[in-house]
Amino acid sequence: GCNMCVKKCPLQAIKIINLPKDMSKDLVHRYGPNTFKLHRLPTPRAGQVLGLVGTNGIGKSTALKILAGKEMPNLGRFDNPPDWKELLQYFRGSELQGYFTKMLEHEFKSSIKVQYVDAIPKHVKGVVGEIIKKKNTKGNSEKLIEELELGHLLDRDISQLSGGELQRLAILIVCIQNVQISMFDEPSSYLDVKQRLKAAQVIRSLIDEKNYIICVEHDLSVLDYLSDFVCCLYGSQTAYGIVTMPFSVREGINIFLAGFIPTENMRFREYGLNFKVADNLEPIDLKKMSHYTYPAMEKQLGDFKLSICPGEFNQSQIVVLLGENGTGKTTFIKMLAGKDPAVKDKIPELNVSYKPQTVNPSFESSVRDLLNLRIPGVYTQPAFVSDVTKPMLLDDIIDNQVLELSGGELQRVCIILALGKPADVYLIDEPSAYLDSEQRIVAAKVIKRYILNSKKSAFVVEHDFIMATYLADSVIVYEGTPGKECKANSPQSLVSGMNRFLEIMGVTFRRDPTNFRPRINKIDSILDREQKIAGNYFSLE
Ligand code: ADP
Ligand code: ADP
Ligand code: MG
Ligand code: MG
Repeated sequence: GCNMCVKKCPLQAIKIINLPKDMSKDLVHRYGPNTFKLHRLPTPRAGQVLGLVGTNGIGKSTALKILAGKEMPNLGRFDNPPDWKELLQYFRGSELQGYFTKMLEHEFKSSIKVQYVDAIPKHVKGVVGEIIKKKNTKGNSEKLIEELELGHLLDRDISQLSGGELQRLAILIVCIQNVQISMFDEPSSYLDVKQRLKAAQVIRSLIDEKNYIICVEHDLSVLDYLSDFVCCLYGSQTAYGIVTMPFSVREGINIFLAGFIPTENMRFREYGLNFKVADNLEPIDLKKMSHYTYPAMEKQLGDFKLSICPGEFNQSQIVVLLGENGTGKTTFIKMLAGKDPAVKDKIPELNVSYKPQTVNPSFESSVRDLLNLRIPGVYTQPAFVSDVTKPMLLDDIIDNQVLELSGGELQRVCIILALGKPADVYLIDEPSAYLDSEQRIVAAKVIKRYILNSKKSAFVVEHDFIMATYLADSVIVYEGTPGKECKANSPQSLVSGMNRFLEIMGVTFRRDPTNFRPRINKIDSILDREQKIAGNYFSLE
């Protein structure tokens, strides 16, 4: 058997998974001796969007680079790497042979929206409008600038853009180039729900019978919406990744969630993921729970005005804040955190624990030292270990230096720190940022279970729709013009709040019958039109 087949199970004990015995025939690429191995490749199809789903460090970006012709596959051979003639022979009989043949014969050009948009200003200099002009070989920039809301940024230097602005610019740059292969590596990072849907629509508008489009995406609603078909990647992070055959988008995402590939009779995760809330959780009796209220409040920040409608929340319940970027979600969370002297006397006097949206660590020691300093004694308690630190895979990173953590690792530490602090109310701003799709679901389960079991309250800001619907007992919907004047509605039930929010967004959702995950209806599909007429934007059927 394979000695790398141990996959840590975040919700149960560690178990051995039945990964295939001999994969050496399928080894497509290796960066160097004793490094990560990529087995097989995803198979793009002209005129369709291929989606890739898998955990971090499993080879998604590597697969993109190979399919874009930017990294030549070496079949794991470093001393005598294959040439294209041998590679075409190797892929003979698969759809990839045709793909690579066309790529070479027609000298296909490719363009990738890179995963780490923050690094772009290090390589690309200048004013946004000029950068766009230089790249616009297709001549379609005008319309897309409008759709991606970049018009007001044209005179700005690229170094001044926020994460979300850089992301939208980077997506645009790929869309305006006259290329045959367009790739988008994690396009939804830093974007709010509305921008995610817009980006997905813009990417889908590139579809043309001759072109290839491939997307890697961790927001499963967005991946679902973007893709025509899906390949999953599984294996062992940083050791090896295996690409599955292509599946229909619904089937592919359900296979990823189930952790089982029926066509290969292969289980790659010991547990399945589903969205049925409250499985193995005790039902709560709301009458026995404490109940808190806050009054109507207003807040002026420079040119920005936020009105908050009065509200109430309960012990053992999570309120999810839903709104576009710049509508004042973080502002309200900070008010609840008692960080605003002007409204301090209006907020119920409760102990709060706060996970900020952005964390810039300056702690010059290990994760363990940080935990000892901030939540001493807590992170070793058996209940906290089994409910929080173990599923968040703290053991893997506890002896790493805080300053050397990746974005996703840092996020996991921050969630652990926030939940580890004794408090009545937990304020968690954008927990899914930097997490992969599997970690998101685990984090959502951890937060949900912790709040229920410890009978605390929580406010969570979340753009990942699947996470938001899983977490929410009630929702606060934000309305208005971002950055100018906005209103935070009173908390309302999940269904009525989601209905209101989706109505503002102009999209409808249904649920998957297998695992209850919410799925976005394609705009103007029959279901979309029916649900809009019925005012049923968030269908539970
Ligand atoms: P994903 O996009 O799924 O997170 P990547 O394809 O970026 O995964 O990386 C897969 C593995 O390959 C990781 O362990 C990563 O560290 C390693 N890797 C990526 N690029 C290189 C490189 N240029 N040289 C050596 N190793 C690399
Ligand atoms: P969200 O979390 O919903 O994205 P924020 O609460 O962070 O929104 O910000 C709401 C608006 O208030 C934004 O337009 C932001 O630029 C503005 N803002 C936030 N803090 C300040 C400040 N200290 N001074 C002036 N404007 C601010
Ligand atoms: Mg990647
Ligand atoms: Mg915010």
